[in-house]
Amino acid sequence: DDRVVTGSATNFDESFELSLRPQNLQQYIGQQKVKKNLKIFIEAAKMREESLDHVLLYGPPGLGKTTLAAVIANEMGVNIRMTSGPAIERPGDLAAILSDLEPGDVLFIDEIHRLPRSIEEVLYPAMEDYCLDIVVGKGPTARSVRLDLPPFTLVGATTRSGALSAPLRDRFGVLLRLDYYDEEALAEIVKRSSSLFDVAIDDQASVELARRSRGTPRIANRLLKRVRDYAQVIGDGAITIDLSKTALELLQVDPLGLDHIDRKLMETMIERFRGGPVGLDTIAASIGEESMTIEDVYEPYLMQIGFIQRTPRGRMATAPAYEHFGYSYPSET
Ligand code: ADP
Repeated sequence: DDRVVTGSATNFDESFELSLRPQNLQQYIGQQKVKKNLKIFIEAAKMREESLDHVLLYGPPGLGKTTLAAVIANEMGVNIRMTSGPAIERPGDLAAILSDLEPGDVLFIDEIHRLPRSIEEVLYPAMEDYCLDIVVGKGPTARSVRLDLPPFTLVGATTRSGALSAPLRDRFGVLLRLDYYDEEALAEIVKRSSSLFDVAIDDQASVELARRSRGTPRIANRLLKRVRDYAQVIGDGAITIDLSKTALELLQVDPLGLDHIDRKLMETMIERFRGGPVGLDTIAASIGEESMTIEDVYEPYLMQIGFIQRTPRGRMATAPAYEHFGYSYPSET
């Protein structure tokens, strides 16, 4: 995925994401409601000297789920162990991770909805009673042995809470949904990152980058990094509004943060299907993408800004979408 404006992590992000990650709740910008709740839960757990209840974080990629998991561990004063659903292949892999935890530790499982069912079942007693049921032996002599685990906090992250099985979802005490960030919070993130990069940026430029970041901190940081390159080569290193606009144009990120794929998607809906309603699979086939990718990656933001509407008969392009891409909206008559 080589899109600049994708919320998913790319190899390009890895080198600088660690250095930009907020360490504590105070540095974690935006998501006020989530932070307010977490603060109380963390404080209460600390007062009782217990581990924090299991937390499920859900929301689109790049909104700060991994970051928040690390912040939680930091605020609790414990270690964090990170893994992901697809990385755990056998029940034994998970058992090994769990039995290696120290009391109070945070175990972070990214993409937790992709855990196979057989492995989920290892998690149930671990989450509920802090123990592992292990089968030893084979055939008629096989028996189940119970192993105690230290109390720990599972922090699970998923892009869609609906993809989680009900028994797993029910075992989380705290469910927190991360929303797209508003412009103000994103501008603040851009400024914070610039100062960590030791690059000067003016207020207008940080707002401009924020506006084109699709409500997503990962994209804001990525755009900042690329604009910084332009500033270094073309300008004098400082990021101004004019320089940002030029750079973003070269990157083909439009004023709303949309790129050629969004454009292709919307133009197809408008031109070929007269704005819809049109089914997801039909759209997918005509632009040569997978339905799942459209649903998880492209569509959420287009719906968020009101360009696509879901109806029982399919997707529809809205009047603001027609206008943005330079079409006249068909009148009722
Ligand atoms: P996710 O796990 O949801 O895909 P990440 O936690 O990896 O997202 O966040 C992506 C990047 O965005 C991180 O490198 C981090 O620097 C930045 N980021 C995320 N949330 C915030 C925030 N609330 N404040 C500042 N930076 C953030």
